Amino acid sequence: MKLKDFFNGRAFKVLFSQKYIDENLKYRRGRCVQCGTCCKTFIFGLPCIFLGKQKDATGNIKYHCKIYRFRPKVCRDSPIDAESLKQNHDKNCGYYFVDINNIKIQGRR
Ligand code: SF4
Ligand code: SF4
Repeated sequence: MKLKDFFNGRAFKVLFSQKYIDENLKYRRGRCVQCGTCCKTFIFGLPCIFLGKQKDATGNIKYHCKIYRFRPKVCRDSPIDAESLKQNHDKNCGYYFVDINNIKIQGRR
């Protein structure tokens, strides 16, 4: 396993390039819609121990982070970029990225 694949590919860029993260997050839009996908494969492809789930009013399963307020930076900054969004997140993830002209470049919403 490559170092960049550890922690579902999130940690590598977060730990080693804060400038890269800060620049990319300027172009991130949207919000988490609690599908849980990116937390289900968090460490070595396994679900994070802090991932919780419950049914909403319509009976759909919603996932949540049990330590949301204290979740690590690697989670707060995710998805880091369009590549991370494509690789580690659901195809219907609520986040997307725009380019410098505010045109959507990755993500479905
Ligand atoms: S894939 Fe996107 S919508 Fe789903 S839990 Fe992760 S950040 Fe939230
Ligand atoms: S700490 Fe929370 S946000 Fe981070 S992977 Fe676990 S459940 Fe997801």
